[in-house]
Amino acid sequence: MARSERYMPDQWILPALTPENRAFFTSGELRLQRCRACGAVQHPPGELCNVCQALEFDYVAARPEGVVESFTIVHHVTNPMLEQRVPYNVAIISLRDYPHVRIVGNVIDVAPGQMRIGMPVTCTWAEVRREGDGADPITIYIPQWKHAD
Ligand SMILES: [Zn+2]
Repeated sequence: MARSERYMPDQWILPALTPENRAFFTSGELRLQRCRACGAVQHPPGELCNVCQALEFDYVAARPEGVVESFTIVHHVTNPMLEQRVPYNVAIISLRDYPHVRIVGNVIDVAPGQMRIGMPVTCTWAEVRREGDGADPITIYIPQWKHAD
């Protein structure tokens, strides 16, 4: 698993873990839900299959490769924590293995003026320790993206 520094500030909000998204945020892989009934692969994870409404899933790990489908550059600070971060990008990435799957994230090594739709990217994970549901801390892996050569 490729690792990187966190793109957003250290104190920035972490995802709330649910039974459905736990594999995605704690595995350090792009683990996606695959419906046991119809085989559809979906993201973001949910309680129901988006195709057949079944309730049971397995998980498949996609290769950490994608393409920038769209992006925006944020210049206006809406939270004081982000004052040192602007301008930053928010990108929608489609996966090579599952082109219909879109993941919202940040391309961490590309300047705002160099961002391009169609840019190939690879996933890297920022590892963040935080308090878990019980007494033990838990490691959250935040998927982030880098320009692929
Ligand atoms: Zn299904």
